[in-house]
Amino acid sequence: MTNKFNYFIGNWKMFGDLSSIRLIKKISINLNRFKKNKFKVVFCIPYTLINSYSKQLKQSNISIGAQNVHYLYEYGSYTGSINSKMIKNAGAEYVIIGHSENRINGDTDTIINKKIKSSLKNNIKIILCIGETNKQKINKQTNRILKKQIVLSLKGIRSIKNIIFAYEPVWAIGTGKVPNKYELSKNILYIKSQIQNKFKKAQNINILYGGSVNPRNIVELNSIDHLNGYLIGGASKSSKKFIDIMNKTYK
Ligand code: PEP
Repeated sequence: MTNKFNYFIGNWKMFGDLSSIRLIKKISINLNRFKKNKFKVVFCIPYTLINSYSKQLKQSNISIGAQNVHYLYEYGSYTGSINSKMIKNAGAEYVIIGHSENRINGDTDTIINKKIKSSLKNNIKIILCIGETNKQKINKQTNRILKKQIVLSLKGIRSIKNIIFAYEPVWAIGTGKVPNKYELSKNILYIKSQIQNKFKKAQNINILYGGSVNPRNIVELNSIDHLNGYLIGGASKSSKKFIDIMNKTYK
């Protein structure tokens, strides 16, 4: 295997309560099988759980992240919103920005750019999601869309040291469909080249794949070049599936 899978990131979406931490604790025990720092496991959980989970997992091998954030750095009159200072204070180390489920709810590339800047300022690591819709794929606009998302969301950003990229084709999220090998490696390579174009000195660019990753398709996905890990939605709600995915990657 030539790939270095650096990250396994779970996205719980609207799942979990205070007792669901037991799932993460099981995963943490399994992680002890692997050499320390071989890869990083992060769980992006609902805001309501961040403080409790991050305290309980403080000494563990798993980090906690949020799934979204407001773009303001400090206080603002935005009822119901949470800013990056607040998620940091609650214990989050990471945040997902640009997820397609939030892009459909109004997150433009300009807003995403502001969210990235405010989170970096608060020392939070970013998981930046990009990807084309089915219609864009059919109309052969994938490269144009990926380039636009990369260029606009990273406008004015000098370093990508604290940014992890997640290629998530919208049509693959929660559908059971995954891109074929050729398509996926072509798109991953394209993303990498666009990032390298913009950040000439960047080392260690991490590009994850997300969209219906599960224990049945992981072996095939692992054979795709240039991937650095996975963003896992549905399958991250099951400790067994998540453990299977890790164990099949690093046998
Ligand atoms: C996601 O929501 O980021 C995701 C990848 O979901 P799923 O694995 O369920 O397709």
